[in-house]
Amino acid sequence: LDPEEFRRQGYMVIDFLAEYYKNIEKYPVRSQVEPGYLRKRLPESAPYNPESMETILKDVQKDIVPGLTHWQSPNYFAYFPSSGSTAGLLGETLAAGFNVVGFNWISSPASTELESIVMDWLANMLSLPKSFTFSGGGGGVMMGTTCEAILTTITAARDALLDQIGRDNINKLVIYGSDQTHCSFFKSAKIAGISPKNFRTVKTSRAHAFALKPESLRAAIEADVNAGLIPLFLVATVGTTSTAAVDAVGPLCDVAKEYNMWVHVDAAYAGNACICPELRHMIDGVEKADSFSFNAHKWFLTTLDCCCLFVKDPDSLVRCLSTNPEYLKNKATDTQQVVDYKDWQITLSRRFRALKMWLVLRSYGVDYLRNFLRTHVDMAVYFEQMVTMDKRFEIVVPRSFSLVCFRLSAAAVLQYSGQKFIEEETLNDLNSELLESINSDGRIYMTHSLVDGIFMIRFAVGATLTEIHHVTYAWKLVQEHTSAILARRIR
Ligand code: PLP
Repeated sequence: LDPEEFRRQGYMVIDFLAEYYKNIEKYPVRSQVEPGYLRKRLPESAPYNPESMETILKDVQKDIVPGLTHWQSPNYFAYFPSSGSTAGLLGETLAAGFNVVGFNWISSPASTELESIVMDWLANMLSLPKSFTFSGGGGGVMMGTTCEAILTTITAARDALLDQIGRDNINKLVIYGSDQTHCSFFKSAKIAGISPKNFRTVKTSRAHAFALKPESLRAAIEADVNAGLIPLFLVATVGTTSTAAVDAVGPLCDVAKEYNMWVHVDAAYAGNACICPELRHMIDGVEKADSFSFNAHKWFLTTLDCCCLFVKDPDSLVRCLSTNPEYLKNKATDTQQVVDYKDWQITLSRRFRALKMWLVLRSYGVDYLRNFLRTHVDMAVYFEQMVTMDKRFEIVVPRSFSLVCFRLSAAAVLQYSGQKFIEEETLNDLNSELLESINSDGRIYMTHSLVDGIFMIRFAVGATLTEIHHVTYAWKLVQEHTSAILARRIR
């Protein structure tokens, strides 16, 4: 790595990205390529001789950019967005530049120590109880994704319980979530060796905004206990993926704790917003949980990947995940005065994620971050108001955080078609057609979910560059496509 050549090429890449951001609104938000497009364009084998950065960047523009879905576009309203920022991106660049592999303290003390400090700062910003901080006996760790956070905590909970009741009881362990819990929970449980027949997805309903009810949880647990099974783990979600439903953490913990279960709070998306005092109540009761995680890469100006996991009892992770091969032995570890994060996670090697979070926190400060999140919630409120005013639509569940779930209503379709009745399936198909029509036009991008048989369009505000005029524009497009689709159905 020649420093001067690195400088030259580095400037080129930064210039390239600056142009990309300048022009980002010119690209179709959802990539319009067909499957296999890239294989047709690229050579069959890697180049034998070096190529210049100039040539490579030309090909990035020509071949890669068309195959990108532009998550950073201000017209991106799909899934849950992934908010990037100058500080996040440059922090990531610094971390990649240092390229340290901080598996234990000695392998890069700054990496470990900064992570512990930043996680404590975040815990304070979220008003988490002291028991989730290092000074309170707990602590935080940065992982790639929520999937890893959940796998780690299930594994810790599993081993703690099996140590008491015997390893051969693993097939009796039961895990609980709702029918809205993210699929990563069930995948993690499967990897952790929990029998799939012991996965309980407790039913939720539209009447209760798809939140998990404590009494439904209790009924499920009691049925299992009566059948001789053993409750292990509950995931309570604050901000579910489909509709941003909020499970009542406190009351659910009260039920789970009667059965000595581990409770994890998955606030992958919504947890970010809980640094705003007016939204903090959404995680009330978290003090009773064992672990809590949120994805800073979703909505905290911190680029992918950065899942922040807080635990009350780090020893439970260390007991089941620590490894101590000779080649990693060192004096610092022997003193037991340092954190060796390799023992808190599945993998050994790990990235210096704390650096980008530190840059984000220092560059923007808490006040700005709160206002950033609030602006997004306000834009979603505005979008929801516009949907409500157009009688052709219905809000499927009341807006939560910055997510609006809406659909073309049955009444509107009946009025336009002159029919007396419409099957739910037909209504779903029509909404799906509307969404596809909007997305293939390329000017904005939204995604859907199907909950309790209802196909809904999700409008998720969270891209860093989105401003109110983008929301107005998106709504105009929705109306335009709706009018065209309904016109086709007029008798
Ligand atoms: N949990 C919730 C509530 C989510 O919304 C998501 C992703 O959107 C996840 C978990 C999965 O996150 P990850 O991709 O970080 O594993």
